[in-house]
Amino acid sequence: MIIVMKADILPESAEVAEVIRMAQRYPDVSAVARKIEGTTRVLTEVYLLGSTSTLPQEPFEEFPSVEKVIRIRERYRAIGRHEGQAEAVGFEYKGLHFSQETFHLFPGLCAVDTPANTEAMFRALRQVGIQTTRAGAYKPRTSPYDFQGHGKACLRYVFELAGKHGIKVISMEITHESHVEEIHEALEQAGQPTGVMLQIGTRNAQNFELLKAVGQQNEFPVLFKRGMGITLDESLNACEYLATSGNHRIIFCLRGMKTNLGDPHRNFVDFGHVPVVQRLTRLPVGVDPSHAVGKRTSSPDGILDIQHVAAQGIIAGANMVLVDFHPKPEEALCDGPQALLLSELEFFVRDAQLVRQAYLERRKLKARLTG
Ligand code: PEP
Ligand code: MN
Repeated sequence: MIIVMKADILPESAEVAEVIRMAQRYPDVSAVARKIEGTTRVLTEVYLLGSTSTLPQEPFEEFPSVEKVIRIRERYRAIGRHEGQAEAVGFEYKGLHFSQETFHLFPGLCAVDTPANTEAMFRALRQVGIQTTRAGAYKPRTSPYDFQGHGKACLRYVFELAGKHGIKVISMEITHESHVEEIHEALEQAGQPTGVMLQIGTRNAQNFELLKAVGQQNEFPVLFKRGMGITLDESLNACEYLATSGNHRIIFCLRGMKTNLGDPHRNFVDFGHVPVVQRLTRLPVGVDPSHAVGKRTSSPDGILDIQHVAAQGIIAGANMVLVDFHPKPEEALCDGPQALLLSELEFFVRDAQLVRQAYLERRKLKARLTG
């Protein structure tokens, strides 16, 4: 059961303590309060856990400080919408808001290779007004003979360069829980010039111990990438591991499914699931057109498949786009063939904004014509 407190009542307030005391009167019920920072207000939710199926709602609804009581369904207890009753308020990180109403582009390096390429990337982002990027330091590769990422060695310069160019958040994959500490330390040493969103890659989508470890820390939000060979339900349950371990600041990212039915693309594009995940969960939803398409092919209209596919995600309401760019794709140590060029960045950003605008217009039209 979730008790939603009225606006601006904080977890440490007397009102919340009263609700928790009431919950503790029932056997085998525990309560934990969580603060949610939305764009316009701060919200506190009290989660009642344990034997709650027979718990009455009324004693909680009677508190003047309680806005509503939500009886949660079995599925997606922590991340679920519970048939629209739970709001998708999102979260704040480094001064940016991430929710089902916001839109952010994360163009950047699949893998960090040299300081010069990293700086060229960040400089280009600044020129188009983008403050969010991707940069891989720990790369999960299919073959042990392939470049595995520079790891800890590149973190310091990546963070310093990010700070220099006004990058506020870097999406960075981790493949082991020890990487969280390495990132924390490097940020400390660099003087916290930027923020990091920990990326859980598709290959680790069901690495439950990693999910629990990342869920137990609250310093960094998490970008969870859908498992490429498992059902949507299995991927959403993986996010439950993150949330029930304590970290609710999660973005769910679609990235295509592994099957040769998607040929000639690297993966079969699944961006039709953007509104589905928004309906089932409270999480902002991202799309990664680069790992979905995997190549720089274009159609007779001259637009790259990667751009078309990104647009498909955005027109369906995606809240973020993670996309590979590289200043010199021919020299990239990972995924060069799918990297867009810096000369294509302005078109990518403007096209994405145009399509986002079209999505917002679709919503208005729908409301105007059918209510
Ligand atoms: C990535 O984004 O660098 C990546 C490896 O993606 P995925 O986990 O979706 O394959
Ligand atoms: Mn890649």
